[in-house]
Amino acid sequence: MKRPDDLLEHYCRTARPIQRKYMRANSCIGATRLTCDYFGLLGIQAAPRPVKMVVTLPDSKLIYASGVTEEELATAGRRQRYSFGDGATWNGHLVAIVEKRWLLDPSFDQAVEVLGLARSEQRMLLIPLPERFAENPDRFKLTVDGLDDRRRKLRIEYIETRDDSYLETEAWTDDNLPKILPEIARAMGTYSVGGDQETITCHLCGTTSSRRQDIAQRYCVRCASFHHEPEMEVTA
Ligand SMILES: [Zn+2]
Repeated sequence: MKRPDDLLEHYCRTARPIQRKYMRANSCIGATRLTCDYFGLLGIQAAPRPVKMVVTLPDSKLIYASGVTEEELATAGRRQRYSFGDGATWNGHLVAIVEKRWLLDPSFDQAVEVLGLARSEQRMLLIPLPERFAENPDRFKLTVDGLDDRRRKLRIEYIETRDDSYLETEAWTDDNLPKILPEIARAMGTYSVGGDQETITCHLCGTTSSRRQDIAQRYCVRCASFHHEPEMEVTA
């Protein structure tokens, strides 16, 4: 039984501050590769997906966009102030699709920083995908409406582009990435207990169990072994 929700939430909080020691906020390519590599270690399917990202604060008319041209924003009637990710040689945005059920944007903090959406938080954005995505995963446009930390209206859009030229960038083939991976794996620990002590997720194989005995004994059925390390709490 796999239910990696807790694991993904834990990853979103844990991995980004480590990545940011080595990367800039707009480092979507390296951050996505590290994310796919990490989940690959756990046997969890995570695939890179090139998109355009548009983050809008409708009331203050502020926009942060990546992978979108100035013309496209103007055509969409968006003549407000906006900011592109600076210094990027690839005009696109890369995210990971996890198990065809989540969109994980490891470098969403670039929009957080520019638009001041939250108090200097370095974490990744995790969005559950609608059912229809799993049925037809080839093309998507995802729009999420919500509120930011200061209760301002917020709209986040991801539009698939199929621009695979990120594969030829230095950011994708960066030799330093495999050196960062073990640091993330160490910080993640080998397990986490989710919600109100309701589940335990093994970070070695990605399996989640809600059996009381497994939680009490810090046991993973799939690995057939007990976790021996200080408890790492994950709150929902
Ligand atoms: Zn396990």
